[in-house]
Amino acid sequence: MVRTNILVIEDEEDIRELVKYNLQRENFGVLEAGSGEEGLKLVERTAPDLILLDLMLPGKDGLEICRILKRNDRTQNIPIVMMTARGEENDIIMGLELGAEDYVVKPFSPKVLGARVKAVLRRNASAPELSPDDVLKIHDMVIHPGRHEVLVKDKAVDLTATEFRILHFLARRPGWVFTRYQIVNAVHGEDYPVTERSIDVQVVGLRRKLRRAGNCIETVRGIGYRFRDK
Ligand code: CA
Repeated sequence: MVRTNILVIEDEEDIRELVKYNLQRENFGVLEAGSGEEGLKLVERTAPDLILLDLMLPGKDGLEICRILKRNDRTQNIPIVMMTARGEENDIIMGLELGAEDYVVKPFSPKVLGARVKAVLRRNASAPELSPDDVLKIHDMVIHPGRHEVLVKDKAVDLTATEFRILHFLARRPGWVFTRYQIVNAVHGEDYPVTERSIDVQVVGLRRKLRRAGNCIETVRGIGYRFRDK
């Protein structure tokens, strides 16, 4: 079997060692970089399957590294999991909007780290198979994009066009966290003059109409929303 390689970009050596130790125990191959610049070189040379990226780095910081990797055709499909300190919600939001796939907040347990990495790899592998018109069946829900129709336990739920688009957008990628800005872009296009607050209002309405199934839409505090993974 081909080993899955993970590049860890982290300047603090003890954290890097800890992460490496725990990933190796899960049978991942681990590459290490102590700075963003070193990380970029390693990405070019080794094409890792996933990158664990610390945001607070000397020199080019994690967000800059994320921007560079996601702008480059050859590296943009490598999933990035950011490592952040508590209270860095704005950096997390920016990283997600730059294209990072997920984040973990330090201090994290080895278990959480392993689970996040595996979930991102799994979701990334299955994501491209979905086309926008595919009917989604998830939890108790059936979502028909062509008909703009949602069934919960076989009963149709009456949603507004915006509510439907938000639900469909989130449900297409269960487990992924999206910022409000990303949701606005997805449902209304980039120039739509909508505040982040209005997304919150839409989600409240959506949850109410979906009743118990509305629990599938999770609030990620300080960051945005996520459709619960299966
Ligand atoms: Ca650091």
